[in-house]
Amino acid sequence: MGETPVLVVGAGPVGLATALALRARDVPVVVLEAESHDRIRPGSRALYVHRDSLKLLESMRGGVGKRLVARGILWNVRRTLFRGREVYARTYPPYQGKEDMPPFTSLRQTDTERILLDACAQSGVAVHWDSEVTSIAPDATGVTVTTASGASWRASHVVAADGARSTVRKKAGIGLHGSTADGFHVVVDISDEGPRLERVFHYRHPAMNGRHVLTVPYTGGFQVDLQCAADDKPDEIASPEAVRAWLPGVIGAVQEDRITWISVYRFRQLIADSFVDATGRVLLVGEAAHLFPPFGARGMNSGFADADAAATAVASANRDRAIAEFATRRRAAALSNSAAAGAALKHMRPSGGVARARQLTAARLAPLVPRFGAWLERAPYGQVSTMVNGYQRASSESRSPCGCRH
Ligand SMILES: Cc1cc2nc3c(=O)[nH]c(=O)nc-3n(C[C@H](O)[C@H](O)[C@H](O)COP(=O)(O)OP(=O)(O)OC[C@H]3O[C@@H](n4cnc5c(N)ncnc54)[C@H](O)[C@@H]3O)c2cc1C
Repeated sequence: MGETPVLVVGAGPVGLATALALRARDVPVVVLEAESHDRIRPGSRALYVHRDSLKLLESMRGGVGKRLVARGILWNVRRTLFRGREVYARTYPPYQGKEDMPPFTSLRQTDTERILLDACAQSGVAVHWDSEVTSIAPDATGVTVTTASGASWRASHVVAADGARSTVRKKAGIGLHGSTADGFHVVVDISDEGPRLERVFHYRHPAMNGRHVLTVPYTGGFQVDLQCAADDKPDEIASPEAVRAWLPGVIGAVQEDRITWISVYRFRQLIADSFVDATGRVLLVGEAAHLFPPFGARGMNSGFADADAAATAVASANRDRAIAEFATRRRAAALSNSAAAGAALKHMRPSGGVARARQLTAARLAPLVPRFGAWLERAPYGQVSTMVNGYQRASSESRSPCGCRH
């Protein structure tokens, strides 16, 4: 049986960030990951890394935020169209480096994970691959953790970063509640020679029978996100043949081999009943604790804030109290992120004729009254919140080209 002060379960972006944050506080840490070291994680997934996250990661280990910025791209144009007509466009001046980090960077989640994993190695974090955690037994002095191979670990605390289906959360007896919206989205990665430095949201795309379409660039390609209609079926509209058939109507002719990933997701707003177990020794972070829709870039970014808060609490001199505060504060942040995502969802799937008519009217008036175009531009993503401390701040037109599904 190995002895270690803190175990992090899961080597996704949030688990790796938690390990870095613990090492930044001189806490010894071991990461247990179910998959193998040579795993291939599919798809671009979380692209948008917020300035707050970049600063936070840089504080965990110098150079991490800067490496993400060097690898990512900063698109500086956002455009919104409504049935083929532009209703909003804004070009931001190139980032001059006045602030210590740009407003965001856009790169594939796998690139982010690779940079975090390198940083973990430099910080002395041991990652044990092929180590699927199957049970946990917390008691008054620590937690015993068992993996599928039968290995047993003892830790003072466990941080569960094992994602949406979190075994640790279930074994800790913590429920996950909320809602899953009707309908689904198809997301497609297109590899690209040169980056398109604009993010485009197209309401009621004429080539897609009025479905909404979003395109977001990242280093090496771009994501296309199609919001499907109520009667669409995933195996029809998201099959490789179907995607090859509808994609040219949205982005123009595309060679088949440039389509590198097709996936389907649903808008889920689920939050754990508590971010800490009854003993105060098992903490939940990232998607083990909350699930948000991708629109608004809240998933991974808020997970980084969870990671930092969990590490601060575990390293605190007044640990029990700090862990209780972590759980309260991060759950409040999750509730606020979820509410913002819910508002965005209502906008994207208006339930009644009045809401639909309001969007149509705004689109008609946008050329004359720019704030209607700005409203159509912002609303799909919900209010931008500060991921780090969980406080809400209103999205600001002048601040940065963020506030999107990035
Ligand atoms: C299409 C799409 C776009 C997105 N865009 C954004 C975006 O722009 N910005 C954003 O912030 N978020 C975005 N997200 C969400 C983001 O991808 C997730 O929030 C993020 O992956 C969650 O990270 P995590 O580390 O909590 O969990 P995961 O990435 O799921 O990692 C969990 C890890 O735990 C491991 N594991 C699981 N069970 C066990 C076990 N029993 N024992 C040991 N290890 C285990 C898994 O193998 C995995 O490595 C997007 C998601 C999708 C699908």
